[in-house]
Amino acid sequence: SAPVITLDGPAGAGKGTISRLLATRLGWSFLDSGALYRLVALAAQKRGLTPLLDEAVLADVALNLDARFTQDTAGEPVILLAGEVVGTQLRTESCGDLASQVAAMPDVRAALLERQRAFAQSPGLVADGRDMGTVVFPQAPLKVFLTASVEERARRRHKQLMEQGLSASIDDLLGEIAERDRRDSERKIAPLKPADDALILDCSDLSIEAVVSELMHHAEQ
Ligand code: C5P
Repeated sequence: SAPVITLDGPAGAGKGTISRLLATRLGWSFLDSGALYRLVALAAQKRGLTPLLDEAVLADVALNLDARFTQDTAGEPVILLAGEVVGTQLRTESCGDLASQVAAMPDVRAALLERQRAFAQSPGLVADGRDMGTVVFPQAPLKVFLTASVEERARRRHKQLMEQGLSASIDDLLGEIAERDRRDSERKIAPLKPADDALILDCSDLSIEAVVSELMHHAEQ
């Protein structure tokens, strides 16, 4: 089967940007697993299923998720839910918050497992998430765990949101990120933690380019 590089870590550590760049440089596919959880949350919200209470119903939403990952002419990722472009709706903090609630449901995670594994196709896959190395691709030859301080992650998320024309205060983001970290690491199923054989990189003080070249170096070995 195709080689996989897993990149796990907390929200806002730069995983998304770094794994996309890495995939582009290697000419490999890319899996944004967080987007799958966000899509389940959004699909549930659109069906009036919030607050998210019924795990069996949500697992059914996950199993039948009509999601498509493509690119625009500039190569930017485009995500479709039931044929509708939902990029901006997916990136909001409220969608991220709902996503972390559905992500705590074992039946939802199970429903998304095969869909994620199907992304591993030749010549290779860079997989971005929380449990890529621990659960979804435990055989991956290169597993990376990216961290950064909560403050640095809040600053980066803030910049990202501003660039997308969305507003948020750094203090609110700090609180939300800390809360999401807590929920992601304390949950019983697939908690956020490095795989035993993961390369742990703290990128608080590293540029995106420095991290990507370091990972390219490991990938080529
Ligand atoms: O990475 P992103 O912020 O888009 O992920 C949204 C939420 O989805 C995370 O806070 C986490 O709860 C959940 N998630 C997960 N497992 C993954 C990817 C994301 O539980 N592999």
